[in-house]
Amino acid sequence: MKILKKKANVVIIGGGISGLSIAYNLAKLGMEDVIVVEKRYLGSGSTGKCGTGIRQQFTTKEHIVLMKESVKLWEKLSEELGHDIGYKQTGYLWLIRNEEELSMFKENVKIQNEYGVPSRIISVEEALEIVPQLNPDVFIAAAFCHKDGKASPFKTINAYYEAGKKLGVEYYTYTEVKGIIVENEKIKRVITSRGNIETKKVVNAAGAGARKVGEMVGIKIPVENIRHHIMVTEPFQEFIKPMVIRGKLYFTQTDRGGIIGGIDMPETPSQPLKSRLDFLEVFARNLVKVMPILKNVNILRQWAGYYVTTKDNHPILGESEKIEGFYLATGYSGHGFMMGPVIGKLIAELIVYGKSSIPIDALKLERFERGELIYERAVIG
Ligand SMILES: Cc1cc2nc3c(=O)[nH]c(=O)nc-3n(C[C@H](O)[C@H](O)[C@H](O)COP(=O)(O)OP(=O)(O)OC[C@H]3O[C@@H](n4cnc5c(N)ncnc54)[C@H](O)[C@@H]3O)c2cc1C
Repeated sequence: MKILKKKANVVIIGGGISGLSIAYNLAKLGMEDVIVVEKRYLGSGSTGKCGTGIRQQFTTKEHIVLMKESVKLWEKLSEELGHDIGYKQTGYLWLIRNEEELSMFKENVKIQNEYGVPSRIISVEEALEIVPQLNPDVFIAAAFCHKDGKASPFKTINAYYEAGKKLGVEYYTYTEVKGIIVENEKIKRVITSRGNIETKKVVNAAGAGARKVGEMVGIKIPVENIRHHIMVTEPFQEFIKPMVIRGKLYFTQTDRGGIIGGIDMPETPSQPLKSRLDFLEVFARNLVKVMPILKNVNILRQWAGYYVTTKDNHPILGESEKIEGFYLATGYSGHGFMMGPVIGKLIAELIVYGKSSIPIDALKLERFERGELIYERAVIG
């Protein structure tokens, strides 16, 4: 096992997409001695359990602007990192069930278009041109953005890891952060299961462990870990290109051809990551309603992962106002995979230059104390 370094300029807690993207971007900006500490293996948290989706169809300026930039980065990420990440711009097709939803989606599309996202409302016939096997009786129109898409979480994690390693980032897996020493409201040292690291800067990118990491410096991070269920089928030749969404159901095909998807189930916070059989029933019933052709498909595997949620469904980003050198990148509320590239870029800029190229102050932790929440309505994956 690699000997733990005793000193670092930045210690990043968490080897998911946030931590790895931040580490890579820090190294890209010339920051030396960047360490990623991960208690299990890279991608073992929510990132390796996610639904692959990448979209710009959100309802708030904050999310739309961030995701527009993230998609720009996704478009050239394979090339930049030097590894294929399985990125495909195959769109998000949101099936609209009734007139009430239609007027809401028209509003959403209007806001998205204002910020340059090319989403639009399309007819049932147009939707059938995109996915001919859809059941036309279960929707009255659709919202579509051809610039949305998907990527492989595993390939993306690997690509960030390899690119970061080339630039000097050090990774310590199976190493748990147990405590953080703060003196005079400044970060001093990180205590891990394999020794201590002296540092002035820590990034809390610990996903479902973020709340606990906050407690280590005496800060309450208002996130809840909500279990979500997902499954994958046997592979087929690709015939579902976009992410298809109807209500709380979503599905698409992975780069290996399996249909991957989930549906929201009622859950209370912090449930153990066990699968529920009733998820399969609810999911299968809804899936077959939307795509009857799938009624005999074999499900290969189901699993569960956490959405780390905030009250307003926006992430918590930036440096704490209470502890100097304590940065947060968490609380993505079910869409943190797609945000990985932009979050890495902006948090790295904040650490290196003291300012990010896209303002993220509205998403600081302190918005909860100040009662300045910004509510996102389009939560799914
Ligand atoms: C079923 C499901 C479907 C989803 N679908 C999508 C989707 O389609 N699109 C999308 O954008 N998002 C989706 N998400 C959300 C997405 O997976 C997450 O928002 C994203 O992966 C968060 O990345 P992260 O790096 O912040 O956290 P994680 O990937 O969870 O990484 C955090 C890491 O920190 C480590 N850690 C925690 N505590 C400590 C500690 N004390 N010491 C050391 N290491 C520690 C953990 O082991 C973990 O590996 C989905 C999530 C789920 C569960």
